[in-house]
Parts: sequence; structure tokens; C-alpha cells
Amino acid sequence: MPTKKTVNKPEAEEAQVKKAAAPKAEKAPAEKKAAPKKAAAEKKPAAEKKTAPKAAAKAAAEPAAVKAEKKPAARKAPAKEAAAEKPVRKTVKKTPAKKAPVEEAEMAPVAEQPAPVVEQEAPVVEQPVEEVQLPQPRRSVAFIGSECYPFVKTGGLGDVMYALPKALTKQNCDVKVILPRYRCIPQKYQDKMIYRGEFWMNLCSDGRSFYVGIMEYVWDGVVYDFIDNEDFFGYGNPYTNLVDDIPRYCFFAKAALAALNYMNWVPDIIHCHDWQAALVPVYLRTIFNGTPVASARTVFTIHNLRFQGVYNIATIKYWTGLPDHVFSYEVMKQGRDDANMLKGGLAYADRITTVSATYAGEIQTPFYGDGLDGHLRYHSDRLRGIVNGIDVEQWDSSTDKKLAAPYDRETVLEQKRANKRALQEALGLEVDEGKFVIGLISRLTDQKGLDLVNAILPALVDGNTQVAVLGTGEPQYEDSFRSFEQAYKGSVCAYIAYDESLAHRIYAGADALLVPSLFEPCGLTQLIAMRYGTVPVVRETGGLKDTVQPYNEFTNEGNGFTFDRYESGLLLDSINRAKTLYFTQRDRWDEMVRRDMDKDVSWDSSAVQYRNLYLELKP
Ligand code: ADP
Repeated sequence: MPTKKTVNKPEAEEAQVKKAAAPKAEKAPAEKKAAPKKAAAEKKPAAEKKTAPKAAAKAAAEPAAVKAEKKPAARKAPAKEAAAEKPVRKTVKKTPAKKAPVEEAEMAPVAEQPAPVVEQEAPVVEQPVEEVQLPQPRRSVAFIGSECYPFVKTGGLGDVMYALPKALTKQNCDVKVILPRYRCIPQKYQDKMIYRGEFWMNLCSDGRSFYVGIMEYVWDGVVYDFIDNEDFFGYGNPYTNLVDDIPRYCFFAKAALAALNYMNWVPDIIHCHDWQAALVPVYLRTIFNGTPVASARTVFTIHNLRFQGVYNIATIKYWTGLPDHVFSYEVMKQGRDDANMLKGGLAYADRITTVSATYAGEIQTPFYGDGLDGHLRYHSDRLRGIVNGIDVEQWDSSTDKKLAAPYDRETVLEQKRANKRALQEALGLEVDEGKFVIGLISRLTDQKGLDLVNAILPALVDGNTQVAVLGTGEPQYEDSFRSFEQAYKGSVCAYIAYDESLAHRIYAGADALLVPSLFEPCGLTQLIAMRYGTVPVVRETGGLKDTVQPYNEFTNEGNGFTFDRYESGLLLDSINRAKTLYFTQRDRWDEMVRRDMDKDVSWDSSAVQYRNLYLELKP
């Protein structure tokens, strides 16, 4: 049964760190040999020993003109050239290359699903090509984020970082995706990366400098540039704990900008994603002010407000080398002693987006705002929601090689039964195509409404219903689902793992998919489910509300079953409504299956909205 586990986004860490006034250990992953003493890093960062090689230290002339920086209000205007600043690339001094980590990387559990690559790299058969009119003008965009399918993925962010750039290329955007070069990226991709260059970069407040390598991979019209530094990214899958993650993403944000200068590729737009890239706008309008890359405008997308990158000010100040004024309440300061990286990104970005219109409204309220609702209300003139799509080539039931029986809207009814039987067999469920099979594919965390599922699961298993759970996460949920499997053998399967292939087979073989989230910025599983003709049962929150139209029995319209308040009874009621339709009015159910498959869940219209947003900033 379960074989592999993945590392999920570290909610636990966040909570832990929010409480902690001081870091547990000031580990300095990039310089383990010469790690600063804890007290030194926290209290007197400037007093740290300089450990970088001399040549490197000289070469690491990051722009140092803090004087030339704008005050927090800098978000309003793009930076003016500051004479004192120099582009990083001019100051780079080549040092003996540090060999890129290309050892036999155990394939990361998070990225075990690289099938589409092969397909898409097949030689293209020459055909008469219709001339496609691309929208004008062309715009260049740098995506900066911490994960991207198929290299490394822990959740929806990874899907978006892959699919949106691809969709934007069809909107005449020239897209470069900048990612950390984690060791867990499968070797087959590591092998295809091409060395683009290297330099040393000042990072910390005492001027310690660090190696930055750039490895490049071009695929499907998108350029992927991986920031290489073995000490920061040579471990983790990709997230570990905040003690290590804070320094590595401080490094990543600054290195990404320095790499753009180094490559002499100044995009019109820099599009940053989630807290791991939140310091990019802050760096851009402070330390990089006056360098070539500062002419770019920034968009910051919140994929999940729960994760913010909060740590004590002394540590973040040390690792970033950012000037004092960004540690004010208007920018990064939070509480008495903490700095919040996400908050800083929101303060400095030219535009803020999140992944659905409903979530854009919700996060401005205390319940969903995770402590930043006031900050978001203050910046609401720059905030909007653009709903996610999915990559409809990656998620295509008619070509999906992972399925027992691929199908389209014409063959769905018959083939879904075949997929259901194959799924039941694989998961040890009673093989009976007459059963109503409910799937749940999720990180197992509080966010996902799993306490509601736990509360009603015994009531669900009535002899006609089966439940297939696929997920990893918090032990309390892993354990409870495992015990349900024991208690209801043959009716419940808890597959505690991250398994891309099984996910495809559940989307295809289940009749309904549960997404009863407490909050859900957008949610992709309900979109994938609909594309596979699987009816979603969702709570009306965030993107779930925006993408699933509730079934109306009077008009026979809708895409799924929904409930509003976060109550287990309401979840049970909506599942029962679904079951009633399935068992008593199958023709109507089947119509809904086809309606769901017809629904446009692609990136097409959202990619146009992003393009328009870029044009607002750079007409
Ligand atoms: P989140 O980003 O909050 O985890 P989303 O619904 O936006 O949730 O995206 C979840 C993505 O991760 C989907 O592509 C889903 O299929 C995938 N996924 C989640 N858990 C698993 C798992 N255990 N195995 C395989 N894929 C998973």
C-alpha cells in the first residue's frame, strides 16, 4: 500500500514560529562550516565573521546604496535610477565553479510523475499550420516561486507555476520561470539543465556573500532558470522547517533578481508567488533600486494566505540585509519582534492578485485574513481575484495513459465504470460498479475540512457507498483515515501517500469528489474532477464557490453539490443529495457528468486576465 510520503506545506512550522520570539537555532545552511553563533545572528548580526572567500567577497558587490532607497511608499512609483547602484552582473567576479549537485538524486516523492514531458517532447509532425494571431504587444514576464510541476510539486502552487506560463505563451508573453534548484528535482530534469552562468552575491547584513549558479531548461516555449546553491537547496522536499526555510528563501528572492541582472534579461513584469518569493518586490524597490531590473513592475499572487514566512526581525534583517525602514509596521513588522515576509511583498507589489474573486474578498475579513486582513484592506485598491484554471493537456481523460480506460464525453458513462472497477481492485475495495464511489485527494490538514469528513464517515458507509482517500499530512488525519479503513474494510481505503498516478485514477474512477474545505483560495481538485466527469461536493468558500455551480433540481442545472456553513451535518446532507440523484435519477446525474466535462476549466480566459493586468502596469 502506501509507499511514499511527501512533505507538505509547513503549517505547523508557521504556528510554532509565530509563537516563538527567538529562533530555536540560528542555523546557517549556506555556511554550515562557519555558521554564525546564535546570539550573534540575532542580536548583533553585523558583528558576524565574514566567511566568504576574499575574492568572492570583493566580487559580491550587491548594490549597497541604502541611501538611494525609497521609503515604504515606494510601491507607488517604479524606482528611478539611483546612480550609486550598480547592476550585479558588472560586479561579478568569476570564481572556480562550484560543481552543480548532480548526484543520483533519489527521486523526490513530490515529483514522481513526469509522464507528460516525454509526450510533449515527441518530434512534431509537420502539418499545414494555421497562422495564429497573437495579441499585441508582446510582454516579458519572470515568474518567481518555490515549486513547479513536474520538477517539484506539493500542491496547487506547483500546478499553477507550470500551467499559467504555458498559457501565457499563447497570449504572446515571453515567460521565464525562476525556481530553486532543489536536489529533489528528478535526475532526468537535472540532466537536461544547461549551465547559464554563476556569480557571487552579497546577502547578509554583514556582507557575507554566496555562490549563485544558474541552470537553464527550455521546454514547451517556457524558459526555466534554476537558482543553484547546494548549501541552501541541497536538502528538503522542498520545504523543511522555518529555521532553514527563512534563510533559503531570503537567498532565493535576492538571487532571482540578481540572476535577471546577470543574464541581462529585464522583464516587463516580475510575477511573484507566495511567501517564498515575497521579498522580491521588497528587494526590487530597495537594494536593487537603480539596477536594470528595477524597471520591471511587480505582481504578487497569494495562493494561500495561511503561509506567510514569519520570523523574528533580527534574523530576517540579518539574512536579507534589508534596510531598517522595511521593518516598520507598514511593511514587514508584525507584533513586537517579528517580521512577516508576505506582508512586505504585499506592501511593495504594484498589483496583488489571489486565485479567486471570492477569496480576494474573504481575506479582507478577520476570519480568513490570518492576521493580514487589515493590511489587505489597506492595499485593496491593488488587490483582485483571478481564478485558476488547469492544464487541459495534462488533465485529459481521453489521452491519459494512467487510466485503465481513457474516455471522452461520448464514452464517459461506459468507460467510467471500467475505471471504477480498476480502482476498486487496486485499492482493495469491493469490486462492484453499482457502488457510489466518493474520492478525496488532498493534503491532510485542517484547511481541508477533514474533521467534517471524520465526523460523518461512519454515516456514509451504508453498503452502497465507498470512500477512497489519497493524501498525506497531519498525523491525526492520517491515523483517523487508516482506522476507518480498518473498520470498514472493502468500503473505505486510506492511501496515505503522495501518488500522482493514483490521483489520476481516482479522478477517473470515482463518481464524486469531496472538497469540504474550511477555506480554499481556489482549489484545483474540483476543477480536475469536473474535467474527468466526476461530480464535486464542495463547501461554498473561496474558489470552490466560484467554480462549482450548485445543482438545482428544479431547472436541472449545475455542476455539483454544495453547502455553506462549516458543519458536518450540512456536508452529509449534500452528499446524500448527490447519492439520491445518482441512485434515483441516473439520467440527470449522467447529464451533469457530461455538463461537467464540457465546462471550461482551462487557463484560457484567466491567462487573458493576467495579460491585461500586465498591460495595465506596462501598457
Ligand atoms: P492545495 O494547493 O491547497 O494543496 P489544490 O486543490 O489547489 O490544493 O491543489 C492540489 C493539487 O495537488 C492537485 O493537483 C491534486 O491532484 C494534488 N494532490 C494533492 N494531494 C495529492 C496526493 N496525495 N497525491 C497526488 N496528488 C495530490
